[in-house]
Amino acid sequence: MPDAGRYASLMTLVACSVTVDRPDLVSPALDRAQGAKADGADVVEWRIDLLAKLPDAGGAIQRLLRESPLPAILTIRSEAEGGAYDGSPIDAARVLAAAIVCGTPPRFVDVEAALLRDHRASDAVHAALAGVEESRRPSLVVSLHDMAGRPTALWTELERMWSDPVCHVAKVAWTARTVRDNLEAFEVLGSRQGPTIALCMGEQGVLSRVMGAKFGAFLTFARLDDEEGTAPGQPTVRELVDRYRIKAITNRTRVYGVVGWPVSHSRGPVVHNAWFGQMGLDARYLPLPVGPTWESFKASLSELIEHPTLGLAGLSVTLPHKEHLVRFVQERGGARDDASLAIGAANTLVIDQESRALRACNTDALAGIESLAEALARASDDLRGLRVAILGAGGVARALAWACANAGAHVVVINRTHERAVECARSLDGRPGKRGPMRVEAGDAASIGCGCFHAFINATPLGMKDGPAPDESPIPDDVALDGVVVMDTVYVPERTPLVQQATSRGARVVTGTGMFLRQAALQCELWTGTRPSTISVQVS
Ligand code: NAP
Repeated sequence: MPDAGRYASLMTLVACSVTVDRPDLVSPALDRAQGAKADGADVVEWRIDLLAKLPDAGGAIQRLLRESPLPAILTIRSEAEGGAYDGSPIDAARVLAAAIVCGTPPRFVDVEAALLRDHRASDAVHAALAGVEESRRPSLVVSLHDMAGRPTALWTELERMWSDPVCHVAKVAWTARTVRDNLEAFEVLGSRQGPTIALCMGEQGVLSRVMGAKFGAFLTFARLDDEEGTAPGQPTVRELVDRYRIKAITNRTRVYGVVGWPVSHSRGPVVHNAWFGQMGLDARYLPLPVGPTWESFKASLSELIEHPTLGLAGLSVTLPHKEHLVRFVQERGGARDDASLAIGAANTLVIDQESRALRACNTDALAGIESLAEALARASDDLRGLRVAILGAGGVARALAWACANAGAHVVVINRTHERAVECARSLDGRPGKRGPMRVEAGDAASIGCGCFHAFINATPLGMKDGPAPDESPIPDDVALDGVVVMDTVYVPERTPLVQQATSRGARVVTGTGMFLRQAALQCELWTGTRPSTISVQVS
């Protein structure tokens, strides 16, 4: 396998995929490529899956190549490999061959490994390449895609690509079934025998698309802001360049992330990457979707933590894994902070960089109590004399119940499944708190309207975008809220139905954003020793 010569780069290139289906779409496609260039892309991938099938496509393809504002990869992706081309290999090869010998050939031509196994198609591509002088000859990206999952013959195919004298860049891409697939993509990059692209598709593959840069990926793909990607899970060019600062990723870059199911709604990557950038830290924060079971959590965390070169340094942990985190750290002999021990749920994993010792912490509790106390104009460790209703009995509810009761408030937990509220109250009531024995009881739905609460806290997902009931509020319309503090923990969107309802009915409202930023800043402090300013970032 030759190296990519003039195209070899120490830095991972960012390629923006632009689909061109018909000749009349060439002009807008060129505009899009200009946009990608302005956003920071290095290369444009012209996806001509459908255009290639049209009998009169030659002129349109040549115009794309002639006017391309960025070095181009020309790609015809077959249906079998996740594209839209349903023609024969020889017809695809002829279109590619015509582009190779035209006056302005692309820098790269993507040829599927399967196409090269068709002798006529392979001969057509090779003959075209042989007819072009070396300085203008496109480099071949030999590719293999598997939409169903990791290709069974992954390593055999790679060996074949790496040993093929016409393959300049080997590309393998498959749909990640778990976040652990990304680690095998990194293993491919670490074992490479020439320029290589190895990435995982789907939501669970974002790690490979970004952190492949740490392992020497030749190139990664992105989409434009306003366009669906050509492959699921593709970040936008701006996300790669600005949010993830991909050009500055080094082999020492530390990795953080958010583990949950789902995590696509999380604003953690926006906020933490902005702080890392402001602090000049060589660290990145990625979404890490991990399936909902304890087994998935344990297996994924174990592999991520133990990976010898990934450099995982800490995690945020969200639904439904907060209790799993406490169990995981306990099983591994790690430490748990007071809040996690009292609550049985944690949202932060700290990994000591030298000893690799683990610590589970709960920053929801402190962040929640700080936000609430601010609205009540009270010190966060003294809520004596106040009655607080907590709606929900999950991880966040328990964290807030503990924090409020610890500060001396009388807490009533109200939950859809009443037994969980009873369980939550029983686990905290009477235990020693900062202001004497904690007072926590379970209430039923009717108690919401008793008129005796100074504050309500929503700790259910009601009102959350893409949640179980995005249009619902947990507080019935006839409950008086005038002068009461209403705090929503849901922060996407910021103006939830509850926030709107409480604002219009005279409550003092605390949105979930304030709490979210506080708990994130506390996490950052646990990981880096520095508490960033919550006003230095925008959540969305
Ligand atoms: P969790 O452990 O899954 O608990 C969810 C709670 O909500 C449970 O008590 C559950 O009741 C209840 N619930 C779920 N669906 C419901 C429905 N359709 N109607 C009524 N009740 C319902 O979740 P969590 O970790 O505590 O998180 C709760 C919320 O907090 C999340 O939605 C998230 O938006 C928010 N949050 C905010 C921050 C922040 O920093 N602002 C941080 C973390 C989480 P059952 O017991 O009956 O199932």
